Amino acid sequence: FLDLDRFKAVNDTLGHDAGDTLLIEVAARLLAISGPVHLVTRLGGDEFVVLCYGLRQEAVVHLVEQMRQAIMTPFEIMGRSCHISASIGIVLAKQAGGLNLVRAADMAMYSAKQAGGNRGVMYESALFDKAAQQFAIEADMRDALREGDQFVLLYQPLFRLGAGRSVLAGFEALLRWRHPVRGWLSPALFIPVAEESELILPLGEWVMEQALRQGRAFHAASPGAGLVMNVNVSALQLTQAGFCSGLAGVIEAEGLDAGQLCLEITESMLTGAGASTVLAEARELGVQVAIDDFGIGYSSLSYLRRLPVDVVKLDRSFLEDVGGGSSGEAFVVAVIALAHAAGKPVVFEGIETQDQKDIARRAGADMVQGFFFAPPLSANAALELVRS
Ligand code: C2E
Ligand code: CA
Ligand code: CA
Ligand code: CA
Repeated sequence: FLDLDRFKAVNDTLGHDAGDTLLIEVAARLLAISGPVHLVTRLGGDEFVVLCYGLRQEAVVHLVEQMRQAIMTPFEIMGRSCHISASIGIVLAKQAGGLNLVRAADMAMYSAKQAGGNRGVMYESALFDKAAQQFAIEADMRDALREGDQFVLLYQPLFRLGAGRSVLAGFEALLRWRHPVRGWLSPALFIPVAEESELILPLGEWVMEQALRQGRAFHAASPGAGLVMNVNVSALQLTQAGFCSGLAGVIEAEGLDAGQLCLEITESMLTGAGASTVLAEARELGVQVAIDDFGIGYSSLSYLRRLPVDVVKLDRSFLEDVGGGSSGEAFVVAVIALAHAAGKPVVFEGIETQDQKDIARRAGADMVQGFFFAPPLSANAALELVRS
């Protein structure tokens, strides 16, 4: 956003015709800046929007200085010399468009004006950074979904604790994004954006298909093992009309037993009535359902029995409690006993040490998952584990 600082004074002293000529001259000078300036439009009054593509942050500083100089150089209008300056608000975004971007540029321009004008201000509030980052992630995610090879699933093994050696029980599919510029991205960063933009729907479909196909390969490598594939599902996916019929279709197409698929959902998703109905429908297909990160909301202990789930996954924050001493361990023992009383086997997540494994065993956990046993593995590494 670019706004002229003393335009009104010029307009008033020289008249409207001179003012109009000056505005055209300003636009012409801005467009004459060679390089990245792609579009100069007048918004009205003495406000301009300048769009530039393909700029790095360092180059923006240089560009703004060029603009400032271009406007400060006196204009010759009708034989008179006019001295004006500009207040420039700058925002960086990967995807131009969206109300936030325009608003942020306007606010940045306003602070340039407040600071006395004749300067550029790059808007950098945490709020805008976040909005800009979301725009960027969202735009890149659309590309990634089109390209198809940027998303990757890793598979973290789940083991059944037995009297002797723990036995491989299945895997949890965990999504990674190999971003062409930013490198490997964690789902914690992009899943929330995917949910907000509803891109989680095509992405979730891709995950489901890919995970079931891989589950089929694991099954083929070790047919008797009854390996289960756990897939994380977002609230938006679950409440989408036709979720279950779509699921049935993928299961059929990938040739897996419904019982070999386990949907991981979180407690917060169960608060709406809709989700419970869908889960009941999924379970009718034979699909298993696990409640993920259990224990973050303690209230659920009371209705554990009524939850439409087959498996309980204890959040790793329980392990922090255990570190605090014996009362923590007693608490974990009680929670697991409660789950068992409700007829649900328990997976203890995030086991990182031998100590924690011992605690999980003592407390009666049925299954374990965590870096101590194995990190999330590539499909090939996971297949090797299945074969061993
Ligand atoms: P989650 O479902 O609770 O997944 C477990 C997370 O714990 C994974 O993080 C895993 O890599 C990590 N983890 C495993 N073992 C250990 C351990 O011993 N110590 C510690 N500190 N962490 C461990 P990741 O892969 O970064 O995934 C983060 C979250 O993103 C997941 O949490 C899940 O909620 C979500 N997510 C991942 N993939 C998908 C997906 O395909 N769809 C959806 N909707 N969400 C996904
Ligand atoms: Ca003005
Ligand atoms: Ca999970
Ligand atoms: Ca979890």
